[in-house]
Amino acid sequence: MMLHDEHLVGAAVGYIREELINAEWGLRRAVDDIAGVFDQIEDEYLRERRSDVEFVFERVLRNLLGRDTGPLQPPPDAIVVAYDLSPADTAQLHKAAVSGLITDAGGKTSHTAIIARAHEIPAVVGLENITELVETDDLVLIDGAAGIVIVNPTAATVSEFRDEQRRQVAAGAVLHAMRDLPARTRDDVEIQLFANIDGPDELDDALDYGAMGVGLFRTEYLFMGHTLLPDEETHFRTAVEVLERLGGLPATIRTFDLGADKLAPFLEAADLQEANPALGLRSIRLCLSELGRGLFKTQLRGLLRASAHGPLKIMFPMISGIAELRAAKLVVDEVKIELAADSIKFDEKVKLGIMIEMPSAALTADLLAQECDFFSIGTNDLIQYTMAVDRVNEYVSYLYEPLHPSLMRLIGDVARAGKEAGIPVTLCGEMAGDPTVAPVLLGLGIRELSMSAVSVPEVKAAIRSMAVGETESLMLRIKKLPTAAEVRAMVSEYVFGLTGQRKGRA
Ligand code: PEP
Ligand code: MG
Repeated sequence: MMLHDEHLVGAAVGYIREELINAEWGLRRAVDDIAGVFDQIEDEYLRERRSDVEFVFERVLRNLLGRDTGPLQPPPDAIVVAYDLSPADTAQLHKAAVSGLITDAGGKTSHTAIIARAHEIPAVVGLENITELVETDDLVLIDGAAGIVIVNPTAATVSEFRDEQRRQVAAGAVLHAMRDLPARTRDDVEIQLFANIDGPDELDDALDYGAMGVGLFRTEYLFMGHTLLPDEETHFRTAVEVLERLGGLPATIRTFDLGADKLAPFLEAADLQEANPALGLRSIRLCLSELGRGLFKTQLRGLLRASAHGPLKIMFPMISGIAELRAAKLVVDEVKIELAADSIKFDEKVKLGIMIEMPSAALTADLLAQECDFFSIGTNDLIQYTMAVDRVNEYVSYLYEPLHPSLMRLIGDVARAGKEAGIPVTLCGEMAGDPTVAPVLLGLGIRELSMSAVSVPEVKAAIRSMAVGETESLMLRIKKLPTAAEVRAMVSEYVFGLTGQRKGRA
């Protein structure tokens, strides 16, 4: 709101015009004028709001100077209440050790929510008007798993939550003890569980929680919040660090998936003015465009060089069909030729795979499988594009339903196409980390899942309690159900039966 306020921006522009001073100084003068008014205010609370204007000034100034906007710095243990947070801000909050975050905007699979989950920050998003209901210094309870926020709870409720917190810590310890056990079903089918990471700093957790490698490295975070673009060396060093820390386990590194809710300063500067960014020049389209091609080639050079250092796989996001896959592979070939000409080592046979996250790709999976080495189903976007529901829009989040019959058909088709072509199919959307939908995924033929590291133990426990044969029969019954609600009820019944059996055996 401040940035739309004529007293601030209009006044700064006025100073620049009239006094021919630079923007930074014009803004400082405008802020000084406003600060002068604040200083006259008698009420101490209102007077101190001057610091809010200074805070905005600092951030705009850093932007004008092309410096990092710097971390948000709430006090430790704070719960951050915001209209919305960018994924980059959320990553910073993790470092500031906040206790939780709650926002008006967003959806369960928005990147803000995904990062909060990765860093184990309790979060509830899409609350629509929580910023109007919470005041500074209120006591707030958050149950991130259930999506509950309680403002100024009673002492009895606080004590209930504390008990639940202790119960969860104990349950976590029990799951953690299964770390070295395989994710094998009762009928001896081994499921591979991988971690989704945003950077090498998440690898300790990934290994600690028992992931068997990295199924998705979202490389966008290498430069979100940074004004400088990552160079070839950064790509190379980061990828090698991931491979080394994984000690021989595989790492699937995804090329830039920028755009929509993952903006980088260079993209903001390009000011594309897209009415519909989720359907716009983003992800692989951006990388293949004039605007992003240089970045893409730099990244590919770094990744190909790293491929000489361990089992690295390169994955392209948002592939719409064969033509785009071929275009991306051509750039890889170009880079390979350049590297060979410079006598730089890389793995000639490096695996190239694609994310299946659009209906157009899922429906042509049989064709795509002929020309790539692996698939990874990105259900976060596949749901968004199949249901035509913006994954960060809180008003339509009720339609965001992973168990919609359309989704299950698409996932089943992709799994089948992969199997027939003999290529592995991973599922790396957020639903991979939900133990309650695991029976559906197994029943549809998925044998590899990649998820936030923190979800690995729980999903493993769920898998160990199931039999693939049972999940396949379950799917035969589920296929006849017309609504997601009915599917969910039938899956819950199956999961409940398993829990009962487990308890019975205990
Ligand atoms: C997906 O779309 O499911 C996915 C894993 O990618 P992202 O969440 O980064 O869009
Ligand atoms: Mg995606």
